[in-house]
Amino acid sequence: MSRLYTLNIEQVTNGIKNEEFTSEEYVSQIIERIIKVDQKINSFITINDNALVQAQQIDKKIRSGSTVGSLAGIVVGIKDNISTAGLKTTCASKMLSDYVPPYDATVIKRLKDKDAIIIGKLNLDEFAMGSTTEWSSYGLTRNPWNLDYVCGGSSGGSAASVAAQLCTASLGSDTGGSVRCPASFCSVVGFKPTYGLVSRYGLVSYSNSLEQIGPIGRTVSDVKKIMEVISGKDTNDNTTIDTRNNINTNNYDPEQKNNQKIGLLRELINGADESVYQCIYSAIDKFNKFGFTYEESSLKSSEYALASYYTIATAEASSNLARFDNIRYGFELNPDDYEWNTYFSKTRGNFGDEVKRRIIVGSFVLSSGYYGKYYLKAQRVKNLIKHELKKLFKEYDLLISPTVPVLPFKIGEKIDDPLKMYLIDINTVLANLAGIPAISIPIGFKNGLPIGLQIMADEFQEKKLLDISEVIEKSININTSYPDL
Ligand code: GLN
Repeated sequence: MSRLYTLNIEQVTNGIKNEEFTSEEYVSQIIERIIKVDQKINSFITINDNALVQAQQIDKKIRSGSTVGSLAGIVVGIKDNISTAGLKTTCASKMLSDYVPPYDATVIKRLKDKDAIIIGKLNLDEFAMGSTTEWSSYGLTRNPWNLDYVCGGSSGGSAASVAAQLCTASLGSDTGGSVRCPASFCSVVGFKPTYGLVSRYGLVSYSNSLEQIGPIGRTVSDVKKIMEVISGKDTNDNTTIDTRNNINTNNYDPEQKNNQKIGLLRELINGADESVYQCIYSAIDKFNKFGFTYEESSLKSSEYALASYYTIATAEASSNLARFDNIRYGFELNPDDYEWNTYFSKTRGNFGDEVKRRIIVGSFVLSSGYYGKYYLKAQRVKNLIKHELKKLFKEYDLLISPTVPVLPFKIGEKIDDPLKMYLIDINTVLANLAGIPAISIPIGFKNGLPIGLQIMADEFQEKKLLDISEVIEKSININTSYPDL
């Protein structure tokens, strides 16, 4: 069988289980494709040399009649800030260029337990700080739909590789939009779960009170399948909760999928580019026919969201990144040859410019004279947003907006202007500040460049959010072709 790389999760797992093709054949075709296509987009940092051996083991299990896991044989690409035992985890930083974790993140362990194959580690903005995947010390990742354009970030490798059909699905991390933004720019589905639904154990922390690991796939159904495996309580992460009692509650009846009240956030659509604006309204026209009630709604505090996000995120980053002194993890540089301060600045000088900027800003907003003025205020805004959203969710089942207010732009266009770059995240940071689930699904193209719709729900309403996203995805129906690479 040829072109196995085009298949979705269900087709891959069924095909392998029913012995229509082998796991080895599937992985071989994917690796061939990575070698051919990834030179153009640069989505991989490391390829897992053991993938084929793992595929052979799955085939053997199937031939011998033993049971295999629900994800048997699918290949998952992993953002390179999620720890993989025996496989380099660089965070796209020179600081960790030689770092090989001794353990698997919980999400990796759960995927492997279900017989998924980790195909490799994917490019990102250094330590997940950025919105375009241009801030990587392994070179930037290009948008598979147009190689002159950015692919979004920071999980750019995770979105570009799925769009380019170099893996069945991938994992990214989303602190302020890093799963949803590149998913939108690459025309794939990206999902950020409720805070506490997915274990962060083994995720290299950027801003631990905001971030979640989330899946990227070519369909909502694929994303659901990954979520089923990675979510739930983990004793290694005390912020995780037992999902059995929390999901699929709150008067949501799956038989009544089309009876939902949807609010379009006025503040988030009004700032959008004309082409994005039009695409959102034409998507609404399409899914309105499916019986949803739709209204414009307003979130007043949204104007403070970005400032609050960048204050909290940089503050946490400055403290989380303090551990990188090249003594516990890092590259070859013998501390004995230096006096401490010289050694420290020599090693920490290896952070890239954007990471340095965040450490400096973060240290400033936490410093004694400014703590109340910036950090505390940002925390208050966070609570205000959470509170306002809670109220809105009493009225609406779901809230929607453009995922990103602009189209993907040319490589290099915003890299020299941090404030312009930060504005990309204006619609996505809300979900992180409030801890609620949010998804980006593809809704169209303008001049060959993808546009995504963001859908948000109240906390732990993933079942409702994903079910309805699937209905919306079907009503819009654009997921038929993939970039020609
Ligand atoms: N672009 C945002 C930032 O730079 C979000 C990053 C993320 O979600 N990891 O902080």
